[in-house]
Amino acid sequence: MEVASVEAIPLRRDLGERFANAQKWIDSREYCLVRVEADDGTVGWGECWGPTAGNRELVEEYVSPWLRGRDPRNVEQIHDDLVYKLRSSYHSYVPASVVSGVDIALWDLYGKAVGQPVSALVGGRRRDQVRAYATGHFWGDVEDFETLRADVVEEAEGHVAAGFDALKNKIGLSRIFGWGPEKDVELVRAIREAVGDDVRLMTDANHAYDVADARRVAEGLAELDVHFFEEPVPPRNIENYAAINEEVEVPLAGGECWAFQHEFDRVLDAGAVGYVQPDVTSAGGITSTRRVATMADAANVQCHPHVFGSAVALAASLQMLATIPGDPMLEFDRTPNPIREDLAVEPITNEGNSVPIPDSPGLGIEIDRDVLAEFRADA
Ligand SMILES: [Mg+2]
Repeated sequence: MEVASVEAIPLRRDLGERFANAQKWIDSREYCLVRVEADDGTVGWGECWGPTAGNRELVEEYVSPWLRGRDPRNVEQIHDDLVYKLRSSYHSYVPASVVSGVDIALWDLYGKAVGQPVSALVGGRRRDQVRAYATGHFWGDVEDFETLRADVVEEAEGHVAAGFDALKNKIGLSRIFGWGPEKDVELVRAIREAVGDDVRLMTDANHAYDVADARRVAEGLAELDVHFFEEPVPPRNIENYAAINEEVEVPLAGGECWAFQHEFDRVLDAGAVGYVQPDVTSAGGITSTRRVATMADAANVQCHPHVFGSAVALAASLQMLATIPGDPMLEFDRTPNPIREDLAVEPITNEGNSVPIPDSPGLGIEIDRDVLAEFRADA
C-alpha cells in the first residue's frame, strides 16, 4: 500500500456574532483538513490546529511530495521522520499542527484499510462512551459586566438543562474589557450559584494572568470548588505553572499550547499541572497524544484532551478518549458550528452527560461531501 495523494482542504465559516476569550475576538471558524488517499482508493482525514495559512502550504508543498509512495500503515515512523525533517528545515521550530493533521489522516486511513477503529489499533477500547463537559461561555459584545454575567449564566443553565453535569467557562476579562481579576472570580461565582454544587465546574484563563494575579484568582476559585484552573499563565512559563500548582488548592490544567513528548515530559517532570490536556490537532496527532497520555499515566496525572475543532478533530479525540487510562472527560465545544455539527454524516452528539464513541473503521465518521463543499474556502 502506498500514499497516492495528499491534499490540504481549507474550510471557513464567518460567524454572525463574534465572541471573545481572554486573548482575542473570534469572528470566524476555520480549519485546515488533510486528505490522504492510498493507491487502493482508501482515504484518511486529518485536521491541523490553527489558521489555514501556513498549514495548507506546508501540507501541500512540503509534506505531499515527501509522503507520496510511502506505506501509510507505518504511521509512527512517518510521524517521527516528519518531526526530524521539519526540525532540520525550520531551525528547530516544528510546526506541530502539520504533523498532527497528517498523522490523524494516516491513522484514519490505516483503520479503514484494516477495518478497525483507530482506538482498537492504539491499545484497545477502555470505554464506548465518555463523560463530556460543555465548553463555551465565551463573551459577546456587551457594554457592562452585568450583561455579560447574565449571558454566561443563562448559557450555563442551558447546558445543565441539556443534561451536562460538567461545565467550563472563560475568564481573564482584562485584555478584552479592562475588568480586573475580581470580576473573573465573580463570574465563576455566579455560575456556581446558578447551577448548584453538584455540577463540576472548570475555568479557563487562556494564559491571561501574571503570576500574582494567577495566585489571587486561584484562591477565589478554590472557594467555589473549581475542579481545575486552565492555562492561568503563558505556556512558555512551565516553572510558573509548577510553582502555582504546588502552592494553590485548585489543580492547574494545560496542554493545548504544548506539543510532542519532549515538551510534555518537561511539563510532567516539573509537576506543572494537575491535569494534562494535549490536543490531537496540535500536540502531534494521535501518535503523540497517545504517548503523552501514557506518560501522564506514569506520572499519575489524568489526561483530559483539549478539543476545539471540526468533526474530524472531535472524532479523532473520541478515538483517543476510548483508550486513555483513568477517567478522562471529553471537552465538548457547544458554540454553534455547522463544521463540527454537520460535517460528519452521522453527527456526534451527547446523550445526557456523555457522548458515544464511534466504533466503525478509522476515526469512525464519514465526511458529508455537500457540507465539505459548502464550507470550502478555496472553492
Ligand atoms: Mg483552553
